[in-house]
Amino acid sequence: MDKKYSQEELISNIKALGINSGDTVFVRAGLRKINSEGRSTFLDALLEVVGKEGTVLTLSFNEHNYWPFFNENNVFTVDGPTTAGSFPKQIINHPNGKRSLHPTCSYAAIGKNAELILKNHDENATSYLPIKRLIDLNGKMLLTGCLEESPGFTTVHYVQEILGLSKKSILKNLSGIYYFKDGEKKKFFRKDIGGCSLGFGAFYQHYINKGYMSHGMIGDAHSIIVGAKEAFETELSIMKKQPTYALCRNPQCTMCRATWTYNKKEMLSFIIFELPRKILKRIFKLK
Ligand SMILES: [Zn+2]
Repeated sequence: MDKKYSQEELISNIKALGINSGDTVFVRAGLRKINSEGRSTFLDALLEVVGKEGTVLTLSFNEHNYWPFFNENNVFTVDGPTTAGSFPKQIINHPNGKRSLHPTCSYAAIGKNAELILKNHDENATSYLPIKRLIDLNGKMLLTGCLEESPGFTTVHYVQEILGLSKKSILKNLSGIYYFKDGEKKKFFRKDIGGCSLGFGAFYQHYINKGYMSHGMIGDAHSIIVGAKEAFETELSIMKKQPTYALCRNPQCTMCRATWTYNKKEMLSFIIFELPRKILKRIFKLK
C-alpha cells in the first residue's frame, strides 16, 4: 500500500486503458486513490500520453447558492476556486490551462482543442455545451479513482439537456452565483439543472453489453474508459424511452424524487411519505 507510482508507471497504465497520442479526453479523477509520487504526476502523465495534438478536459464547476440566500462573496472568476476537486484545480493553475466562463458550470482544459471546446461557454450558453463538442470531436471519457463516489459520465447530463429534461426542474432559475461582466458584478441564475448523478452507473451494463467500455488500473485506482459518442448514443436511446432512467435509486434523494416535473409520480409520494419523515428527523436532531 505504501508504493507510490511514478510518471512512467502511470503513462503505461493510461496507455493500457486505450488512451493514445492525439486523443481528446474528458477526465474525472479521484487523485488520492491513484497514489502517485507527486501531486501533479497523473496530469503530467496524461499530458505526456496525449501529446501536443491531444487535449485533456474536465469539469470545474462552482458552489452555487439558492435564492434568496445568494452569497455576495461567492463570485465566479476564471482563476477562482472550483468545488470539483484537485484535478481541475491543477488544470486551472497549469501554465497552459484554460477555463470557460460559465458562472456555475465551467470546464477546464489543456491542449490543442481546449479553445474550441471552451469557446463561448459563458453565462448565455447551456451548461453541457462542451460535452457536445467532446462528442463531435469523437473524444474519450475516463473515470479514475471515483467510480463509486461519483459514478458515470457527464454525457448523461448532455442527454438530459437535449431532451429538454434539464429545464423540467422546480429548481430552475432558483440557484446561482455572482459573476463579473464588463467590470460589473451581476447575478447568474442557472436555467438548466443537471442534478444528482448517483444513478449514472446504471448505464455501465449497457456500455459493457455493446463492448464500448474498458477498465483497468491507474496506479491503485480502478478506472473505466468509454468513447463519448458511443456513450451518448447509448444513453440517448434509453432515455428517449425512459427519461427517469438516469435518476438514482435512493428513496430519500430529494433531488431525484421531488424536483423533476417529468417524475411527478415519485414527487407526489415523496411529498406525502418522505418529506414529513425528513422534517421530523431534522426537528428531532435539532433538539
Ligand atoms: Zn439522486
